[in-house]
Amino acid sequence: MEYKTDIGYRKETLKKLLHNIKKSEDLIAKALYDDFKKPEFEAVLTETNYVISDLKNTIKNIQKWAKPKRVFPSLLNFPSTDRIYKEPYGNVLVIAPWNYPFQLALCPLIAAVAAGNRVVLKPSELTPHTSAIIAKIIEKTFHINHVEVFEGGLDVSNKLLAQRWDYIFFTGSVSVGKIVAKAAAENLTPVTLELGGKNPCIIDETSDLRLAAKRIVWGKFINAGQTCIAPDYILIQKNMKVNFITFMIEEIIKAYGKKIDKSPDFARIINTKNWLRLMAMIESETIIFGGENDANKLYIAPTILDEPSLESLVMKEEIFGPILPILTYESENDIHNVVKRYEKPLAFYIFSENNSFAKKLIAAYSFGGGCINDTVVHFSNKRLPFGGVGHSGIGAYHGQFSFDTFSHHKAVVKKGNWIDLPMRYAPYKDKLASIKRILDWL
Ligand code: NAD
Repeated sequence: MEYKTDIGYRKETLKKLLHNIKKSEDLIAKALYDDFKKPEFEAVLTETNYVISDLKNTIKNIQKWAKPKRVFPSLLNFPSTDRIYKEPYGNVLVIAPWNYPFQLALCPLIAAVAAGNRVVLKPSELTPHTSAIIAKIIEKTFHINHVEVFEGGLDVSNKLLAQRWDYIFFTGSVSVGKIVAKAAAENLTPVTLELGGKNPCIIDETSDLRLAAKRIVWGKFINAGQTCIAPDYILIQKNMKVNFITFMIEEIIKAYGKKIDKSPDFARIINTKNWLRLMAMIESETIIFGGENDANKLYIAPTILDEPSLESLVMKEEIFGPILPILTYESENDIHNVVKRYEKPLAFYIFSENNSFAKKLIAAYSFGGGCINDTVVHFSNKRLPFGGVGHSGIGAYHGQFSFDTFSHHKAVVKKGNWIDLPMRYAPYKDKLASIKRILDWL
């Protein structure tokens, strides 16, 4: 299939996309609200504005990112000029989830287009309003041979995965990530898998508890906890627990009021299946705060659980909802015993004024990314790569990392012809000692 890959064309289409998204900002926010009552503030901050800023940054830097990069040559090849060329993979498939349905569909798409690829996007079927507006914007912006949207669920996903792709970028659950990886393996297609996990949030005795509570409430309950990098559980030094809980309750009420179901700033659970899954997690636990719910409105209040057993449902799998278990520790060994039960998480949070404690934890555990004394915000710096490790994902993106993700890095040595050093050519007789000396010197 023919499509243009020159930088001018890529830039021109991305500018058109920027224009069309800006024109539809209100409609996108409305679609997000209609899908699961995503608050307008969160829609702007984490979806439309995030995508607009990503687009602007990409348009500004595309020339620089795409340019072949000259690197220092190896003296073994003297004389040569060595370059890395960024080559588009070709046909890229992007499969997106529902929780940030605009951002997580558009950002990979923008990067794939910037890098010169043809893109097929499958948005999530669980957010049909957002999926429809994405399809409309894309249709208005791109030639169908350049970027195309396939709306639908499992059947569409499976049909797409059965085809041969040059790159697959998937965001979603670990279990579907494995299905995608298997499908990709059939053709040795490279993948990025942006998955999830159980993200620990560790609070020691030196931490500023009030501020910690405020930042955790924001990072945990934004999008009603349906955020891949939301803190999954708290692990707090035992003596700090009572005060921390008091501050958490105060901060929740400050943020959402006493009648949280009436707050315009708190989203709903995506569907009944997830509502039931989450309700089962709190059913037999000790609720310190929250627990109110309404099946018809797909509502679950911000809920704090007191020390659930590690064998409980809530501590078995990723929560992905507004439920926060609070566990305690007395020794570093206790921390280790909890964190090590799970696969490598996507995010890791430490609240502490003790630098050496924080550094020790960062060195001790493998995780995608994280923060010291905050939650979620590492996502917002485009100079930081975003991605998981182990079961929380393969590969990373954001900023230039996104462009590089969708480019094959082609290494080319251009040899000079004005001299041809004889050392490497057979017959090797008498050359071994000299080559050993040279290699040793290099
Ligand atoms: P999901 O895996 O159920 O669905 C993701 C996409 O895959 C959807 O488009 C869906 O239609 C498709 N899909 C679903 N089942 C499929 C199957 N059997 N075969 C092929 N395709 C299938 O995930 P979700 O519920 O949309 O999102 C929630 C999960 O995504 C959580 O685990 C969360 O942690 C993770 N997530 C990760 C990130 C990240 O950046 N790492 C971001 C958001 C969400």
